[in-house]
Amino acid sequence: MLIGQGFDAHRFAHARRLVLGGVEIPYDQGLLAHSDGDVVIHALCDALLGAAGLGDIGRHFPDSDAAYADIDSRILLRRVIASLGERGLAVHNADLTIIAQRPKLAAHIPEMCARLASDMACDPSRVNVKATTTEQMGFTGRGEGIAASAVVLLTDA
Ligand code: MG
Repeated sequence: MLIGQGFDAHRFAHARRLVLGGVEIPYDQGLLAHSDGDVVIHALCDALLGAAGLGDIGRHFPDSDAAYADIDSRILLRRVIASLGERGLAVHNADLTIIAQRPKLAAHIPEMCARLASDMACDPSRVNVKATTTEQMGFTGRGEGIAASAVVLLTDA
């Protein structure tokens, strides 16, 4: 088994969609990024790449490359899973934490788990998404942005 962890954070911006865990969430701000800003999938990709010893998301999908402008992060996740598959690796389970003061995310978590499991070709029961606030402390607490962390375990496919 191979373990990996990932972390990412993005700043809120107006006139952007808010996409978390592959799900568009109604909100008056989105996350600023070269891609769609899905901080959850970015943390997850870094955990997957880390477990496989393949570096990080920036190395594979550089934000200097126009090909990735506003790209759906689910495409990046599926590409990461494909490259793990080529190396004989599959996801055993993934555990994710979204750190956001707002908006409320609980109602969207089952759909996030379903979409992430679909992209990772694993059972939805193997994908756990949690959300927490930081009790108004720090950049997430002040509503400046959203952060996410991920831990994954890979097994032989
Ligand atoms: Mg990112």
